[in-house]
Amino acid sequence: MSRPKPQNILTSTAGSASAMATLVSEIERIPTPEEQLQPMPNDSFDCDVCVIGAGPGGYVAAIRAAQLGAKVVVVEKEYLGGTCLNWGCIPSKAMIASVERLQHIQHADKLAVEVPDGAKVNFEKFSARRDKIVQTQRGGIGILFKKNNIRHIEGFAKFVDAHTIEIGPWEGPRSEVRGPEGQGDKGPSEPNTQNPTPNTTQQRLSAKNFVLAMGSSCIRLNIPGLEGGREEGVWTSDDAVTAPFVPTSMLILGGGAVGVEFGYVFNGLGSKVTVVEMMPNLIPTMDTDLGVELGKLLGRQGIKVHTGATLERAEKTKDGWKCTVKKGTEVEEIEVQVVLLGVGRKANTEGMDLEKIGVKLHRRGVEVVDDSLKTHCPNVYAIGDVTGRIQLAHVASAEGIHAVTNILTGADKQFDYRAVPSCVYTVPEVASVGLTQSEAEAQGRDVTVGKFLFRPLGKAMAIAEQDGFVKVVADKQYGEVLGVHMIGAHVTDMIAAGVAAIKMEATLEVMAETIHAHPTMAEAMLEAYEDAMGHAIHKA
Ligand code: FAD
Repeated sequence: MSRPKPQNILTSTAGSASAMATLVSEIERIPTPEEQLQPMPNDSFDCDVCVIGAGPGGYVAAIRAAQLGAKVVVVEKEYLGGTCLNWGCIPSKAMIASVERLQHIQHADKLAVEVPDGAKVNFEKFSARRDKIVQTQRGGIGILFKKNNIRHIEGFAKFVDAHTIEIGPWEGPRSEVRGPEGQGDKGPSEPNTQNPTPNTTQQRLSAKNFVLAMGSSCIRLNIPGLEGGREEGVWTSDDAVTAPFVPTSMLILGGGAVGVEFGYVFNGLGSKVTVVEMMPNLIPTMDTDLGVELGKLLGRQGIKVHTGATLERAEKTKDGWKCTVKKGTEVEEIEVQVVLLGVGRKANTEGMDLEKIGVKLHRRGVEVVDDSLKTHCPNVYAIGDVTGRIQLAHVASAEGIHAVTNILTGADKQFDYRAVPSCVYTVPEVASVGLTQSEAEAQGRDVTVGKFLFRPLGKAMAIAEQDGFVKVVADKQYGEVLGVHMIGAHVTDMIAAGVAAIKMEATLEVMAETIHAHPTMAEAMLEAYEDAMGHAIHKA
């Protein structure tokens, strides 16, 4: 059965007088644009919307709220851009890009290019480049705040009541990790003249509405014997993106996106890398075929992949750690300089007195009432990692826009989570959207699957990027595209077309009739759609 289509209010009420009357009254209840922005008398509040946290959720929410005419304040305890910009997406991709370029040069002979003196990474310049990108992007957010008249206050926010927060200094540990070498500028690129009391004194701020966008932080897993932090060679992802050196060897616990991306980086920089993943495959939340292929291709680069395995305990040695890895009945001792904990994040909710104002917490973070993103305190919404739902930057941003639009228009629209892309930026890249084959089957759907390898494509051959494939999962009866999953070069850019297909409830037929440029890697998508219908042109 295909997913039920959303009811079309116009066609479903046509021909019935009482239904038409209902429709008219529904329409009358929709506020006019003037009314939408009016019910916000901010004379009794310092602002209409206060956003707590300036990660990709919070800063985007703030900008959209300002675009909608609201008076907006953002409170951020550390750096503009949050985890994504300072400790996650951006620095990790800058590191990946250097390694990828190095490998292109190392394998340039595949394209008949001779590189006489070889190539190597200058670690100092590599780190400086990464940090400069972070700093520049951070400055960009500051400029956008200025342009949109958003007031940015530095400090840690904590609730006094449902409409008031107290902002005080933040003395947390992460700023120290990035340290002066991270060139943290603690805010906008220019002095924040709109901030009357930066960093030091306590101040109170009142707001009609709040958006909780406090994100998440790394946690340290409890592995017997594994004690200490960065100095002792027990790293989190925060340490990996600010790595002071390239370890000679590294055991990465967790084969999800974070674990495999750092595995790719440090292996490329010369570390001897072992990845230990508890589940049977790498990137276990994605389609199984992707994880299996990634394990094979990373293995070919020299990364040791142990799936279905656990780190039982660790013992300090002179140079690092002796790790006991257990897989079924087999036990292996692996000596490494650094253990990188690539799993586990917790929502940043501590010390904010959220329960005091009626915001409910669950095990993974702030509970939202429904997909309107409202919390149990009616003037407080929550978005991004702090909700403990999907931990992706683009989801946080989209939720931010959704939440402030609901706040400022008085709507109660539900967020649509059907078409969320998920990407891994290793080489090869991995990208996925919609239902995996096993998820679709577990839902009792009768599915058809199409698959096409990049290998025979002219473009793949021309650019010497022939690894990987595209897999499409579709509803057998109606042909609706349910999932698109790919591994190979440039797939994190190509997935946008799959996202659009799922968002628009496209069928295989429509996608197969959509002309894909030649020669491109995207032709594998066309062939996979065709294959799901049983007639891929280029499948031998
Ligand atoms: P955050 O980015 O965590 O921002 C929250 C902000 O709130 C922080 O700046 C924090 O200082 C501030 N804050 C917290 N409490 C308070 C308080 N009480 N008062 C004031 N300020 C407060 N996602 C992707 O989509 N693509 C990727 O490639 C990707 N790569 C990643 C790589 C790594 C290594 C990591 C760790 C994560 C990665 N992510 C990636 C995940 C992504 O970073 C997060 O999903 C995203 O940052 C969540 O955004 P957010 O706005 O919810 O929270």
